[in-house]
Amino acid sequence: MAEIISLLGSTGSIGRQTLDICREQGIKVAALTAHSSIDLLERQAREFRPRLAVVYEMEPALELNRRLAGEGIEVAYGLDGLRRAASLAESDTVVTAVVGMAGLWPTMAAIESGKRVALANKETLVCAGELVMDAARRYGAEIIPVDSEHSAIFQCLQGSRDRGEIRRLILTCSGGPFFGLRREEAAQKTRADALRHPNWSMGEKITIDCATLMNKGLEFIEAIRLFRVSPGQVDVVIHRQSIIHSMVEFRDGAVLAQMGTPDMRLPIRYALTYPNRERSELPALDLLSCPPLTFAPPDLEAFPCLRLAMDCARVGGTSCAVLNGANEAAVELFRREEISFGRIPDLVEEALGQISVKSNPSMEDILEADGQARAAVTRSAGGGS
Ligand code: NDP
Ligand code: MG
Repeated sequence: MAEIISLLGSTGSIGRQTLDICREQGIKVAALTAHSSIDLLERQAREFRPRLAVVYEMEPALELNRRLAGEGIEVAYGLDGLRRAASLAESDTVVTAVVGMAGLWPTMAAIESGKRVALANKETLVCAGELVMDAARRYGAEIIPVDSEHSAIFQCLQGSRDRGEIRRLILTCSGGPFFGLRREEAAQKTRADALRHPNWSMGEKITIDCATLMNKGLEFIEAIRLFRVSPGQVDVVIHRQSIIHSMVEFRDGAVLAQMGTPDMRLPIRYALTYPNRERSELPALDLLSCPPLTFAPPDLEAFPCLRLAMDCARVGGTSCAVLNGANEAAVELFRREEISFGRIPDLVEEALGQISVKSNPSMEDILEADGQARAAVTRSAGGGS
């Protein structure tokens, strides 16, 4: 069970809910970090009294430093600041709730310091999963998933000591706000439409990824990395109610599922209290009043991002870094309303077609692939939306 944490990305959706669990469980906080949201970071710092508060951007960091003068809270900035937050001696656990590939360096710093990592930042595992998991083994750093599907699988695997017992992982998927639409219909949807998720309230990037189903694609790759299974052992099923968070089918045919009302505080709490389960005030799942549980195959024609991610999982090498980098760049353009929804999968597919894949990549290869993917999207998007 975590006693003192460093929380990277404390001002985001996962970060704020992690602090709810810290309040609930009396967990102390040694470091808080944000990109630039210093008003909220200041309030969090005054409440939790961390030793270190980090703002990625320098100007807002200087302003926060002025505001917290005399409070005994050190303020740092930039990547060095994030790395320090991830490796503070007093933290036993690092929660990685930064969004995007930017989470890679602090996650590696936490691993190299041998911390337990409560990992929300899935992009890191998608880009550099093999390097991250190898480093975790080398440094003896435990990785506990926060993503609800992977937490569900992790929970179902408690008590199973042999990975060979796993026949199949079944990732459930809400289907997002555009479930049931054809590709041409979804292509016309606006930013506001995409930000309306039926079951979860999350940061903007992941909410858009849920609308394209890229989120499920990233989770497909994340599952392969985390649980060391092959792409052929992972299935995705549409489950609109988000009550079953994912399942494991074992070789004897038994299928275990983890169920609950959709609330990220459950997987966050489990990641922080693991291997224990602690009391929560959340309303219990009422099976008699919940809607009928339904299951359907995903529509890979209407939602090509999921298909592209599954293909990359099979190809391996730097292809997942290209997929992720292109997606981050395309989603950013869509958030700024510079491209249409339908262009997101096109731009990712174009980037994948343009950049050659390196197998057994080093960290440099991955960073290069990420940079090439972002540049390819900028180039193609310039050609019209
Ligand atoms: P948010 O956008 O809500 O929060 C992101 C956090 O990261 C903020 O604290 C933000 O700071 C900080 N941040 C953003 N960019 C940078 C950067 N370049 N350098 C340093 N810090 C940065 O995201 P979510 O909380 O929704 O998601 C976080 C991660 O968790 C993602 O990888 C997502 O896929 C994953 N996840 C999220 C779930 C959810 O329910 N939200 C569910 C499962 C996984 P600032 O506020 O200053 O911008
Ligand atoms: Mg998820």
